Amino acid sequence: MKALVLDVNRNTWSTTKGYLLRDVPEPKLDEKQDALDAKRVLIEPIFGGVCGTDKGIWFRKAFKESILSTMEKDKRNHFVMGHELLGRIVEVGSEVKRGGRFHVGQVVSAESHIYCGVCPMCLSGDQHVCANERIIGVSSDGIFAERVKLPENVLWPTVLEKIRPEVAAVQEPFGNAVHVCTPSMADANLKNAEFRGKTIAVLGCGTIGLFSILIARAMGARKIIGVEPNAKNKAKALACGADKVIEPSEHAAEEIIQFCDGYGADYCLEMSGFPSSLLTAIKASRRGGHIALFGLSSGDLVIPRFEELITAGKRVHAIVGRRVFGTWEITKQLLEDKANGIQDQVWKHILEEGKGTILPLTEFTPERFEHNLSEHPKTLVAINKL
Ligand SMILES: [Zn+2]
Ligand SMILES: [Zn+2]
Repeated sequence: MKALVLDVNRNTWSTTKGYLLRDVPEPKLDEKQDALDAKRVLIEPIFGGVCGTDKGIWFRKAFKESILSTMEKDKRNHFVMGHELLGRIVEVGSEVKRGGRFHVGQVVSAESHIYCGVCPMCLSGDQHVCANERIIGVSSDGIFAERVKLPENVLWPTVLEKIRPEVAAVQEPFGNAVHVCTPSMADANLKNAEFRGKTIAVLGCGTIGLFSILIARAMGARKIIGVEPNAKNKAKALACGADKVIEPSEHAAEEIIQFCDGYGADYCLEMSGFPSSLLTAIKASRRGGHIALFGLSSGDLVIPRFEELITAGKRVHAIVGRRVFGTWEITKQLLEDKANGIQDQVWKHILEEGKGTILPLTEFTPERFEHNLSEHPKTLVAINKL
C-alpha cells in the first residue's frame, strides 16, 4: 500500500527533512500472531489532517527523542506519519465484533494518544497523560496510508450527515482547542461552560488559536482579544469572532489589561510557544485568572518576579492532547450544532473551502506538501474515496 513515511535514524535526523511516499506492507489483523488484534480494527483513512506536529517533524525541529527512541526500541527504521483521522472501518477483531460498538463500514475519527487503560493515570481518568502512551504517527504507525490498524478504545464514531467530512477530519485538533477552552473543568458541557461572561486573550492565532476563538464565542465569552503578528491570521481571527487583535510587543500585556476592564483577562490562552508570549500571558491575566499553556517550545524560561504569580493567585494549566472522551463530546456538540456557525467558519477560514488545501496522497510531492505547511492553516491529505 502507499503511505507517507518518515525514514530517519540518529545519524540522518539533522541532515534530512520531509516525508517520503513509499510502498509499505499493509497492516493485517492476525489474532494468532498477536492476541491484542482481537481488540483492534483495520481502517481505510478518507482524510488525514496535517498540523504543526507534522511541521515540527518535517523540519526535524520537534519530537526527535520520542521518535528515535521508539524506533530504536521497536527495531524499526520508519514510521507511517499522520494522526488526524477520518476513516472507514474495513475489518474488526473478534472482541470488537462481540462488543458491537463498531462495525465494518462505520465512519470514525480517532483519539491520537493510544493509552494503556491500566496505569494510574488512565485509571483515574487522565488517559491523555497515560504513562505508557503511544502517539499515532509519532510513536506508532500513522494514518497517511491506505490502511491503518488501531485499537478500538481510541475510535470516535462520527456521523457524516451531521458534520461535513472535511470538518469531521479535524475533530482531533479542534479537540485540542476545546481542551484549552475548558482548562479547569474539562468535562464541562456547554450549559456550564466556564467562559460564559468572561474576558479571553488568545496569544497566537494560528489554527488552534482560531479554533479557540470560535469556541470561546460559542461558549458565551464577553470579550475576546487576539495577539498575532501575521496579517492573514489577524484577519481570520477577527472573522472568527475576536473583538480586537493586537501585535505582540512589550506593551501587549498592558493593552490586554486595558481591554479587559483594566484588571486583565479572566483567561489567557497561550498558543504560540514563544517565551515572550508566555510571559505576556502571565502578566496580562487578572488576579486569580487562568493561564492555559498550549504552545510548545523547548528550553528554559525565566519568570520575572515569580512570587507575583503566587500572591496574585493566578492559575496555570498545561494543556496536552484531549480529555478522553470528555473534550470529544464537547467537540461533537459544538460541531453538530449548526446554529453556532462553527462548522461553516471552520470550512471557510481554517480549511479555506478546500482551495489548495486538499492533497491526494498519490499526488504527494515534497514541494507541494511543504508549501501547504507554511501557507495554509490546515491541509487534508485525501487518501481513500469518501
Ligand atoms: Zn495534529
Ligand atoms: Zn495508561
